[in-house]
Amino acid sequence: MSQLNFDNRFVAELPGDPISDNRPRQVHGAMWSAVSPTPVGAPQLLAYSPEMAALLDLDAAAMEHPDMVAALAGNRLLPGMRTYATCYGGHQFGAWAGQLGDGRAIYLGEVVNRAGQRWEMQLKGAGPTPYSRRADGRAVLRSSIREFLCSEAMHHLGVPTTRALSLVGTGETVVRDMFYDGNPQQEPGAVVCRVAPSFIRFGHFEIFASRGEQALLEQLVNFTIARDFPELTGEPPRLYVDWFKEICIRTARLMAQWMRVGFVHGVMNTDNMSILGLTIDYGPYGWIDDFDPSWTPNTTDAQGRRYCFGRQPQIGRWNVERLGDALSSLISRDDIDDGLRAYDAAYAESIGTVMAAKFGLSHLVQDDVELVEDAFGLMQQAEMDMTEFFRQLAKIDVDAPNAAVLADAFYRDDLLQQRRVALDQWLQRYARRVRQESASPASQAARMNAVNPRFVLRNYLAQQAIERAEQGDLSKVIELLDVLRRPYDEQPGREAFSAKRPDWARHKAGCSMLSCSS
Ligand code: AMP
Ligand code: MG
Repeated sequence: MSQLNFDNRFVAELPGDPISDNRPRQVHGAMWSAVSPTPVGAPQLLAYSPEMAALLDLDAAAMEHPDMVAALAGNRLLPGMRTYATCYGGHQFGAWAGQLGDGRAIYLGEVVNRAGQRWEMQLKGAGPTPYSRRADGRAVLRSSIREFLCSEAMHHLGVPTTRALSLVGTGETVVRDMFYDGNPQQEPGAVVCRVAPSFIRFGHFEIFASRGEQALLEQLVNFTIARDFPELTGEPPRLYVDWFKEICIRTARLMAQWMRVGFVHGVMNTDNMSILGLTIDYGPYGWIDDFDPSWTPNTTDAQGRRYCFGRQPQIGRWNVERLGDALSSLISRDDIDDGLRAYDAAYAESIGTVMAAKFGLSHLVQDDVELVEDAFGLMQQAEMDMTEFFRQLAKIDVDAPNAAVLADAFYRDDLLQQRRVALDQWLQRYARRVRQESASPASQAARMNAVNPRFVLRNYLAQQAIERAEQGDLSKVIELLDVLRRPYDEQPGREAFSAKRPDWARHKAGCSMLSCSS
């Protein structure tokens, strides 16, 4: 079996917890606690990502080797692995929540691949840690499939994200009260091995700031910059200012990418915000079907809709403000405000670029803003499918625009009839605008299809794959993983994977709403 080359800087350079007790507790004066995964009864490799494996220099034989499967289940360690959980805090739904930490994520260490890239590996669902609070440290198969598939789907969509290497069934069950209605069930358990250059979150800095652990805060900032932002050079305090600004810009750009593909994270708490601007922690996320900016997939968020689709850019801003607060002992108020303005500017620029591309325009001019807003307004009023709308829009003949082309984007015939005139009028305006572009119709369509996905991980598709997997049939998971490798290509024969949400899925759990129970 090929060797993974571990170089565990986080534990080598940062202070660890002197207490080895694995019981839930507050951990002070340390950034991580040594903890061993809890072995499982009958580990089985259910799926893995060949692309992610390749980034770790692992081929199929290496992935399927019994020692590797055992390691990915938490049943054994490979040479060089160090296992630990880290301490972080966070603002949850707008309120400070104190210590959270890796309650069911256990690091395996940091791999440096042959190309010299550093990858942190984590097992999610491998048992309790000092940060597990009242929970069991485990994960159910359904949420593990969702994290596994979506991590890889996002990567192929070109959206910055943590990755997923493997999905391992534990052969054990986990008890979950999915609907929080006093009806707990035994569900199959799983462990996902997820991978990222860094899993450091905003909450890692917030916890030390909240406790006044200034030395730890500074040490973590210096470590993060040195390890994860090697391109930033210079000396503090300027270095800290540049770093904060960079995080603001990356976060803003990530928000624009989510808006581009119709992704709703669902739990944008500050403990779920990556310092690298990656999508992290796939929980009750969802994908926009019929366009509705107020839609949230998270049942816990159904009342407040804090984390609905349309508010994500605002919440991203709120979250970098909280990071700014946590860094206020190191960065002046003026410099923090500068970073926040950089967020606003980066978001405005990115969303402008995204929208121009989605509509096939080389750039947006003044009047285009209204044209774009009107399109989304129509999409919402007429309950049109966002993904379908943009793929069909690329087929419009700008010399003879006809709304019939967009019929496939509608969920309701009555709304198509009602909005037909408005849609025709909008298309006339759009066609006039596109005729000013110099690109040929074919290259115009190709440009649009390169940013408007044909395939996204629609909520009902994930749910169908999960229901099969729970019966022991992983074929839909494997097929979805494969389809989502080429999300922008038409894939003849695979139309079923781009079909709009069927009627039965409109209000079904797992398809239109998800609880945090995972
Ligand atoms: P999340 O809502 O998934 O971002 O999780 C928030 C916090 O709860 C984090 O500290 C998680 O580690 C912790 N957590 C979530 N589920 C579990 C679980 N089953 N066991 C232990 N900790 C958990
Ligand atoms: Mg989390």
